[in-house]
Amino acid sequence: MRPNALIYALMAAVLAAVSGLAYYAYSASRALSVRERAVMLDTMRELAEEKILGIESELIKSDRSVFYRVNISKLSELQEFLGEERPAVESVVILDEDLAIVPGGFFTKRRGDRVAEMRALLQERVIPDLDLPRSASGRRGHLHTYYDGRPYLFSYLRLIADGHSYYAVLEADLDYLVSTVFPQFFAVRSPRLYQVVDGDGELVYGFDFASDPDDVVVEMPFLDTVDGWRLRVAQREDSALASAGSRQLVQLLLIASALVVIVVGLLVLLWGLSRERRANALKSEFISNVSHELKTPLSIISMFGEMLAMGRTKSGEQATEYAEIIWRESQRLARLIDNVLDFAKLERGANVYEFTEGDVMEVVERALALSARRLRAAKMELLVSPSPTDRADADPGDEEAGAAEGGEPALPLVRIDAGALTLAVLNLIDNAIKYASEGERVTLNVERVGQRLVLTVRDFGPGIAVDEQARIFERFYRARAVRLEPIRGSGIGLALVKHIAEAHGGDVTVDSEPGHGAAFQLWIPVPRRG
Ligand code: ADP
Repeated sequence: MRPNALIYALMAAVLAAVSGLAYYAYSASRALSVRERAVMLDTMRELAEEKILGIESELIKSDRSVFYRVNISKLSELQEFLGEERPAVESVVILDEDLAIVPGGFFTKRRGDRVAEMRALLQERVIPDLDLPRSASGRRGHLHTYYDGRPYLFSYLRLIADGHSYYAVLEADLDYLVSTVFPQFFAVRSPRLYQVVDGDGELVYGFDFASDPDDVVVEMPFLDTVDGWRLRVAQREDSALASAGSRQLVQLLLIASALVVIVVGLLVLLWGLSRERRANALKSEFISNVSHELKTPLSIISMFGEMLAMGRTKSGEQATEYAEIIWRESQRLARLIDNVLDFAKLERGANVYEFTEGDVMEVVERALALSARRLRAAKMELLVSPSPTDRADADPGDEEAGAAEGGEPALPLVRIDAGALTLAVLNLIDNAIKYASEGERVTLNVERVGQRLVLTVRDFGPGIAVDEQARIFERFYRARAVRLEPIRGSGIGLALVKHIAEAHGGDVTVDSEPGHGAAFQLWIPVPRRG
């Protein structure tokens, strides 16, 4: 397996393992919170049942205590018993077998007109609704209903005395139930909220909590007493469930951030790998380019040298021509070797520069002299401005002098490494010769712009594609257009130029419109004089 394939497989495995782990952690935490919710619901249901049971048994106990006291021959005692002690009972009525109220068999806590009203209500509506003749003896029955929009709760019992059936019907005091019994059961300082609602969902008792679908709410009906009513229990927000929710959120966030870190790490690794692969590809291309560049001049030198040595020249002129070819190729070879060696030094991080105050135009002149033959061979013309003759009498130390005579102001001296800067200019001129010979001319212009000297080498060749203009300064990078053509190069020339420019505190940029040539601008800062 190739190392790259191994790394990709490993990364895929890491991603799969991490995703699996994240999924497992997430589902475990979800399952936990679902279980917590279920446990909470169970607890609340039990609680609701307990409350309902408690309230109903209280009511039933109170009913029974009245029922047991009913003695058909001593109804007056019942009256006394009902007096103050039975707050939960509103009215009691004792009926004979024919469902007629026995004499002295109607008791109520109501006052005034409402006594007669209640009696009439019992006789006309309640007693027919109760269906007493069908009730089993000794078994308490109940009716929870509404008359004229008001709720009533009745309990009844069939009793047998002296061989006769009679019935005791008891009306519970619902106000007492709501105002006294409910509050006893539903403590205010509880982590839960309680609510009693009637058949239409109207609030009878408790807080009117708006029920959110996410809230944990349990609802249970009353069975043996106020059976139209239901008890609702809700969990207060600030308690257990809310903390469970926030815990789940924290877990989710942790899982998500761990995932992000791992994925970003893998992406960085991938990016590093692809960069390295690209650098390796560029390096091998560089090696083959450089070897090729070394080989070609060498074989030319060897061929013409051999011809000279064997005296295979027709004339002295031809011999000079061969010697010139040898000289030109050895120059090229020397420059390439210089480039490679300097580049290697820079790559090692060695400090290769030696700065002194110098004149940029001297550098330009040296570069010009070194590339004159190549320019000639390529049938190109190099126009330099200011031209070396213009400046022959100008004093570079005195900026005003040139300007005073009406010509261009002389250029100031700057801190340069003349050798390195010459190499940079040579590289720019060489590139123009290599890539833009069809433009037939190259211009080299040096001028002062503010606090810097700008050296511009402009050609009129094919230019550089916009998307590649920044990349050509990268080491080993060669533009698409030249990679396809048999133009030799190593891809280190411009990287070297950039390094040299930056070492001088300046920079190099390119301005090119494809098809209309390219202008490389190398600038160096002018030191401020104190
Ligand atoms: P080399 O010339 O050895 O390939 P350089 O670093 O000098 O390497 O240049 C990088 C690339 O920039 C070249 O391969 C070429 O594609 C492009 N380039 C440089 N100068 C010019 C120019 N004057 N005109 C067009 N393309 C250029």
